[in-house]
Amino acid sequence: MGYKNKLDMHIHTANSYDGSHSAIRMCEMAMKKNLRSLTFTDHCEVDIYEKGNFEIAMTHAFVEVAKAKSAFMGTLLINNGIELGQPVYDKEKAEHILNKFEYDQVIGSVHNLRNRPDFYFIDYSEVDVDSLLDEYFYEIFELVKWDKFDTLAHLTYPLRYIVGQHNIQIDLNKFSPKIDEILKLLAKNGKALEINTSGLRQPIGKTMPDEDIIRRFKQLGGEIITIGSDAHNENDVGAGIEEGMAIAKKCGFNEIALFQKRTPIPIPIE
Ligand SMILES: [Zn+2]
Ligand SMILES: [Zn+2]
Repeated sequence: MGYKNKLDMHIHTANSYDGSHSAIRMCEMAMKKNLRSLTFTDHCEVDIYEKGNFEIAMTHAFVEVAKAKSAFMGTLLINNGIELGQPVYDKEKAEHILNKFEYDQVIGSVHNLRNRPDFYFIDYSEVDVDSLLDEYFYEIFELVKWDKFDTLAHLTYPLRYIVGQHNIQIDLNKFSPKIDEILKLLAKNGKALEINTSGLRQPIGKTMPDEDIIRRFKQLGGEIITIGSDAHNENDVGAGIEEGMAIAKKCGFNEIALFQKRTPIPIPIE
């Protein structure tokens, strides 16, 4: 612990429907916590783009981050990113979004299955959890095949609710052939796997994905890791980043990546 190269590459501002604070406030907090860099990644849920008014939110987010970038120049390295939810459910829309602004980092996410609510809202007593997870990993594989993102967000996201909130135990070994397929293709495509540290401060108590999957990614040829707190308010900026760095190191990675203009820049874990 006591790392100097602390970067938080998954952060939400009030320009996300579930975020609380301005980019400037998030930056001030990052300075207090001795972070070196932040990448803002407000939500853009591609499958409800019009209904959710995401075009306006994205424009606000882009402009606000650009302002923060110039305000903190020389003290905090700020990058402009986006968390693209469900891009493969409407690939044309996803490409329209990516052509709209020049991002440093695009996070690829799956928060819900097709025409279904976010995993957060599902009543798990009424569904077959195994088939739900089968579908989830299928959609993640589709996302990885699509390939137009930089880092794969919070793999195993449904477990945050299934295990963390509803205490339903899941044996992930059942899904390992599919998870291996996902990790192999991600590695082959030269994409990053995100260590999402939000689970460390939630009931699940683990990163998403957990250490076993991160180690497996390395074994299957994965080279690029990003780390993000997924903070939705100023208090969580940088939360769990050092633990995430320690896990990456333990799994055989000596560097984490920072994305600028969609290109990974290796940053030593130290
Ligand atoms: Zn997410
Ligand atoms: Zn997020």
